[in-house]
Amino acid sequence: MVKSKDFFIFFLLLVLGLFFVYIYSNIKTTKEDVYNRIETDQIEQISTILNAVQRDFTTSLNIRNSDELLNAFMEEENAKKYEDIISLIMTANIKYAYILYKDEKNKFRFILDASKTDKASFYQKFDVTQNEYFDVYSTKKPVILKQKDIENLYITLLHPIIINNEVAALFSVDITTKIQDIILQSIKPLENFFIILIIVVVLFMAMIAMQLFHYFATRKRVFTDPLTNTFNRNYLEELQNVINLNNYSIAMLDLDKFKSINDIYGHQAGDFVLVQASKIFKASIRASDILVRYGGEEFLLLIHNRSGSALQVCERIKESISSRDYFYEGNEIGLSVSIGLHKHPALEKNLHEAIKIADKMLYNAKKNGRNRIEIYDEKSISEKNDSSKDISFVKEALDEDRVTCYYQPIYDYKKCEIYKYEALVRIIAADGRVVTPFEFLPQIKGTNMHYKLTQRILQIVFDKLKESKKNISVNINFSDLINADIEETIIKHLKSNPELASSVTFEILESDEIDDVELFKTKTNLLHSLGAKVSIDDFGSGYSNFKTIIDIEANYLKIDGSLIKNIDKNIKDYKVAKSIIHFASQSNMQTVAEFVHSKNVFDKLVELNVDFMQGYYISPPKATLIEKEELFDSVKAI
Ligand code: GH3
Ligand code: MG
Ligand code: MG
Repeated sequence: MVKSKDFFIFFLLLVLGLFFVYIYSNIKTTKEDVYNRIETDQIEQISTILNAVQRDFTTSLNIRNSDELLNAFMEEENAKKYEDIISLIMTANIKYAYILYKDEKNKFRFILDASKTDKASFYQKFDVTQNEYFDVYSTKKPVILKQKDIENLYITLLHPIIINNEVAALFSVDITTKIQDIILQSIKPLENFFIILIIVVVLFMAMIAMQLFHYFATRKRVFTDPLTNTFNRNYLEELQNVINLNNYSIAMLDLDKFKSINDIYGHQAGDFVLVQASKIFKASIRASDILVRYGGEEFLLLIHNRSGSALQVCERIKESISSRDYFYEGNEIGLSVSIGLHKHPALEKNLHEAIKIADKMLYNAKKNGRNRIEIYDEKSISEKNDSSKDISFVKEALDEDRVTCYYQPIYDYKKCEIYKYEALVRIIAADGRVVTPFEFLPQIKGTNMHYKLTQRILQIVFDKLKESKKNISVNINFSDLINADIEETIIKHLKSNPELASSVTFEILESDEIDDVELFKTKTNLLHSLGAKVSIDDFGSGYSNFKTIIDIEANYLKIDGSLIKNIDKNIKDYKVAKSIIHFASQSNMQTVAEFVHSKNVFDKLVELNVDFMQGYYISPPKATLIEKEELFDSVKAI
């Protein structure tokens, strides 16, 4: 919008500038017209007089040729008479008027001089440098010569004296151009004024043009990914207001196991492969399709309906990517791509919702073995979420390393010690705000982004465990746990490092859709076999199957906050918590109470002999692993 205003101003200035140029050129031509008009008027007047004088030569003096004219002016009386007559034409502008005679040697000589000053004597030589003096003899026509002496501009009128059809001599009248100069001087400021106006307008236009140029250059930079020269994610924001999703299908493309290319051959090899892949993408699409580097090795492709079947385009891309050989510094690199396709994005509320679904399909493609395309149909996703934050919020945070963990102490009140910490994911928004998972986790559930976020959280927590040597709990969904890649990450870290394994607890949501109990058992057994501990999170909130809980031999039961927070007031909650604690102790599990927000709740839980406590009364989640001296800060403040 701002730019269309600039364009408008530029156009306005252009019109204004052209208008000024028009006025300026009009002033200039008018000035020349006036100048010429004055000149011709003067010359006409003088010529009339000179013609009369010339006629007088023949009628009064009876002269028939140039010699007779010369002779006539030798006589004082004649010379005096004609000097007087000619001097009548003398004005402020005409100071010199004389008659020139051309002698037999073609030299010009004064034979009469009516000038008031610098009067020449009879037969005095007159030096001629211009050919026009001679030309008049042949053309027999008056000539106007523009002259310039040191100070003045003036014109000389050469008027032939024709006697018997021959040029007998020349009237020469010097006319200064004072009037013209005065006119010139008075018009000059006006002319200058318009020149300045034109310069100002041109300068403003240049300024706006530069601004516009800068804007478009910046715009290109802002919307272009420098590595692959495709659009970047910023472009999506621009696009979502203008794109008609009815005309497009949406595909999410993600290179498979790309990280290992970086790990094995180095980041530059990764860059090289990315560029090659993006070239293949570009070569496989039409001009009406839109390719966006969504981040890292993920691309978003908007396939226009007129490009033919979106599935065919995706298949072409998938085949081209995997059939090509990639050589980097002599190494052959294998590559494949997984694609999630949503053919009818217009069915979704907006572009971001459609992208989310394509990303869910991408996740399925990854889960189902990679190097494949998964297409969305209504059945493949059971529920949709309304989102405040869309998946690109998480994507950006991952790319810009703004995913972090806060740590909330789990307190062993019997020993007055911090038993361990629960890692809780946070995203530091671009504006610096710390965003809690409630705002973004539901939105990315089931998408490839959720998987990537889990991988990142695990990395952060494992790093923290190594660095701090403290015990940390990390939340993990059942669906994460059964993901082969996540399992691989966990095994990779824990197998090589038993110390790390013994200090980590995986908190698995009890309310999660644990539909396959056997699989659940297998996975928790695996965690146990690695030396890690398992906690059932939010116990009491779902439809717990006590037998399953006993079977999986969890180390901890974390009693759901909804049962704890009113435990000091609600006797029913108190009773349920009491029986859970009893059940846990009977089954060799320790209990953790979360949501401990007040002293009353704390005291009730001591009464119930819960093992550990966690909550704002003890400490809110903090960016660092705090020491026990920093606990009960809110209590100390009072
Ligand atoms: P998956 O098959 O599940 O997609 O695994 P993956 O390894 O491809 O995906 P993951 O998201 O685990 O790793 C992506 C990696 O891409 C991580 C990041 O370091 C790397 N990456 C992101 N941007 C660039 C880049 O511009 N150049 C290079 N060389 N690597 C990048
Ligand atoms: Mg990948
Ligand atoms: Mg938890």
